[in-house]
Amino acid sequence: MKKTWSLFLCFVLAASVLLSGMTGALAAKSKKTSDTDTKLIAFTFDDGPGDYTDMLLDGLEERGAVATFFMTGENGTWGVKKYGKVMDRMIELNCQMANHTYNHKKFSKLTKGELQVAIDGMENYLFKAMGGQYNDLVRIPGGENSDNVSFVEHPVITWNLDSFDWKTRDTTAVYQAIMDNAKDGAIVLCHDLYPTSVQGALHAMDALAKQGYEFVTVSELLRRRGVEIKNGTIYSDASGKETRLPAYSAPELKAEESGEDVYTVTVENKVKGMTYYYTTDGSLPKLNSSQLGKKLEVKAGDHIVVAGYDEYAQRTPLAEQTFKSRQELETEALIAEKEEQRNNSFWVKIFRKLHLFGF
Ligand SMILES: [Zn+2]
Repeated sequence: MKKTWSLFLCFVLAASVLLSGMTGALAAKSKKTSDTDTKLIAFTFDDGPGDYTDMLLDGLEERGAVATFFMTGENGTWGVKKYGKVMDRMIELNCQMANHTYNHKKFSKLTKGELQVAIDGMENYLFKAMGGQYNDLVRIPGGENSDNVSFVEHPVITWNLDSFDWKTRDTTAVYQAIMDNAKDGAIVLCHDLYPTSVQGALHAMDALAKQGYEFVTVSELLRRRGVEIKNGTIYSDASGKETRLPAYSAPELKAEESGEDVYTVTVENKVKGMTYYYTTDGSLPKLNSSQLGKKLEVKAGDHIVVAGYDEYAQRTPLAEQTFKSRQELETEALIAEKEEQRNNSFWVKIFRKLHLFGF
């Protein structure tokens, strides 16, 4: 009988070692994702969406990664006019939807007025999908950039890492071009028009993740490296910057009972410049959802989802809460109390037995 108890104790010890090991592993992982020491890189995909955009979004979702899409309206057989459905998925994954003009005509062939029309034409699609207006990043077709872009009322984005994917159309070559030049703060240029680009970029992401890289959108890359973002200004990267800001965290909801089965909800950790939106049907809040002002009153039975959006339509992780009635809470408390009593008596019995056997 004594041998059985020794075995039991060994099991308890082994389990606690295992658990403490697991806690350590979890802590290391969360430090890596939210912490400020990680290297940041922004993948951008131009000229689409197209036939392979969904495949890319699958790959990003599997990796918990995001990217920035500089999209067109009608660009040959590509563009949101035909492939607009993918935008809902981009919003769900918190990818950045950006502007590559409606018809991808070269800037040098357009007057300022014509370029403005091309930017606005694409913007209509972006705003419709997001449910409201935001400051969309712009990339000029063909990468043409000069002082003339200063009139563009948006930040203008180029890149400092060209994958030459449109030229090589080879998965290994795309992968290698990215791996040879990757560094903290880089903006990578790819096109989601070719399967080789998608596969090469995802393959590179796997290798870069092992080197401690986190994949972020362009506006997040600039923000987290302390770069002040201005309209009419060109940004190619955020390399060599000292600043290390953390990613946005989910809104912390504080609920106080303000009447019978009525609660007042506030966001505890509001970020300056962020607007908070909510839904009560479990759907993802977008820019046309209800705005959460200073406080929000909810009833028992409501399920709210809250997200903060910055001016570039980048959102915080979601906060979700279901509100229970007083009766439900009382029943739950009673069950929990009984459970605790049962557990206590179980352990009390065990320890008494251990004591009997001389431990
Ligand atoms: Zn282009």
